[in-house]
Amino acid sequence: MNCNKAKVLMSAAIDGELIRKEELELTRHLDDCPECQAYFQEAKNTKVIIKERIVRVKAPQNLVESIVRMTKITST
Ligand SMILES: [Zn+2]
Repeated sequence: MNCNKAKVLMSAAIDGELIRKEELELTRHLDDCPECQAYFQEAKNTKVIIKERIVRVKAPQNLVESIVRMTKITST
């Protein structure tokens, strides 16, 4: 697992949406990665901010596509 994946899982963890396997993977990464550990700690205190960040990182392509599609629909 890389740090980006870990951060996505952290967001899900905060929302209580992790499956057991993902939770284990995340815990394992946090054990090896002090940086993510600190990030997770902070994330738990600032839920909204991390969630917003991750949504942007995770879904730019889909978001762009749906915005393009919406724009086309509304402009025709
Ligand atoms: Zn990490």
